[in-house]
Amino acid sequence: MAFEKYKSILLEEKAKLERELSQIARKNPDPEKPGEWDVKAPEMNTMVSDQSELADMFEELETQTGLEMQLEERFKAVIAALDRIENGTYGKCSEGREDIEEKRLEANPLATTCINHSKKII
Ligand SMILES: [Zn+2]
Repeated sequence: MAFEKYKSILLEEKAKLERELSQIARKNPDPEKPGEWDVKAPEMNTMVSDQSELADMFEELETQTGLEMQLEERFKAVIAALDRIENGTYGKCSEGREDIEEKRLEANPLATTCINHSKKII
């Protein structure tokens, strides 16, 4: 099976996630941790004494952290899928090693299991 089309979809997704992540986070420079991002803290003005303003800042940080975690998780899944294409395990079910259905990969290029096994996990 040719996975070139999934590779280009995944590379596009990776670039998109990188753009989104770079707005709220910094890439972890540690080469041992590919795909790790650190949330940029919003500008914390320590001179602010207004409680509601402080609360707003913490709320913003919380929202960004939640979003960052979601994006990072997806980013890592994309990297892992690209790795599988490189090492030839892409499109194989991680549970039973059988080929993942083409229509499943088309719907979700990040799928790591065939339809049968995905049902069992969920
Ligand atoms: Zn399977």
